[in-house]
Amino acid sequence: MLSKMPLDAGAMIIVERLHSAGYEVNVVGGAVRNHILGIPVSDIDMTTSATPDVTASLFSDFRVIETGIKHGTVTILIEKEPFEVTTYRTDGSYLDNRHPESVCFTPNLSEDLARRDFTINAIAYNPYDGFTDLFDGISDIGNRIIRAVGDPETRFREDALRILRAIRFASVLGFTVEPKTALAVRQTAQLLNNVSRERIFSEWIKLIGGMSAYEIISNYRDVVSVAIPQLVDIRLPEKKLFDFADKTARMLSLFYLSTADPVSSFDLAMTALRTDNKTRKMGTDALKIIKDYNLNSLVGVLLAVYRFDTESVSTAIDLAYTVKKIDSDEYAAGKTALSNAKIKSISDLAVGGRDMIALGFRGQDIGLTLDRIAVAVIEGKCQNDRESIFQYLKK
Ligand code: ATP
Ligand code: MG
Repeated sequence: MLSKMPLDAGAMIIVERLHSAGYEVNVVGGAVRNHILGIPVSDIDMTTSATPDVTASLFSDFRVIETGIKHGTVTILIEKEPFEVTTYRTDGSYLDNRHPESVCFTPNLSEDLARRDFTINAIAYNPYDGFTDLFDGISDIGNRIIRAVGDPETRFREDALRILRAIRFASVLGFTVEPKTALAVRQTAQLLNNVSRERIFSEWIKLIGGMSAYEIISNYRDVVSVAIPQLVDIRLPEKKLFDFADKTARMLSLFYLSTADPVSSFDLAMTALRTDNKTRKMGTDALKIIKDYNLNSLVGVLLAVYRFDTESVSTAIDLAYTVKKIDSDEYAAGKTALSNAKIKSISDLAVGGRDMIALGFRGQDIGLTLDRIAVAVIEGKCQNDRESIFQYLKK
């Protein structure tokens, strides 16, 4: 029987200090869940009966950030490790499936646990009372089940992001969604339209990287389509290849296989989800590369490296393998070509603009000629040394 959870020194400082001041304090959420599952704990969230101002004043000798005073959260930094300490609260009635109209502090742990999304996230622990598990979260962890706390449909109507969180946790942890919760996920999916795009993206990117992403996306295609409207009639690659791919190649494979114009669909979707520019640019480049270049030929890969950045070509090769445009030998050859590529831009040529001017080229023709030389070198029609290049130009 589970009775103890080791807490690091920082967490112990917080627990002991609040406890000696006469307040209740618990570790809660992902830290307890992951500990029971035996997987690494990333950040430690705590919940306490002390109000935020009391918590802040008890830790005035540390750096305290008033993260969300309105929601009762202060972050205490102990040796650079952040601990989010939130006052026990109940959420008032919800506006537009998103924001609780108000939050109320409560002295009861049970009320705080009841507002949490899933049973596996609603387990509390402190060294004095051990685990508090009012919704059988420990047994759901044992059975690998995602189950809403309380009536799933009500909970999803309160905050529609929970719909996506349900399948995100299932994907990441390799759990199944309990039937009533799963039914509510499907029935309320449209409410995801009311959720901010940034919140959707941060759940989606975790979902697609998860160990059961293939199964979850197959089973919840309609829910994904609400979150990402460009992905209607989702088609997935072969499971083995999808599982092998990283989150970026997985996401691109969905656009590649399910949309008529993957480049613009992906671009539109990422813009709508307010994704960072780097992810959006790399993804659209990889989709352009797979459309326009022969990644099963050495020259095709080298031309792509010359026109795009290495990371995008690498992603394009991953994508091509995931959607079976190239086989595993071609994949390996492509990656080798990529790491040995010599001509990544015009500046890698043995000749430059000045040589072109000396030869009589002017204006646009300078760049165009250098570009032709680069392509010729890549295609093996000429060596990358001055003499061969001048010979080639004479022809
Ligand atoms: P991880 O950080 O590993 O993704 P987590 O469980 O810590 O997982 P957080 O988003 O950090 O997830 O939230 C911390 C806790 O707050 C959750 O475990 C849950 O108890 C509660 N929680 C978070 N978001 C919601 C929500 N939308 N509705 C209800 N409870 C929530
Ligand atoms: Mg967390």
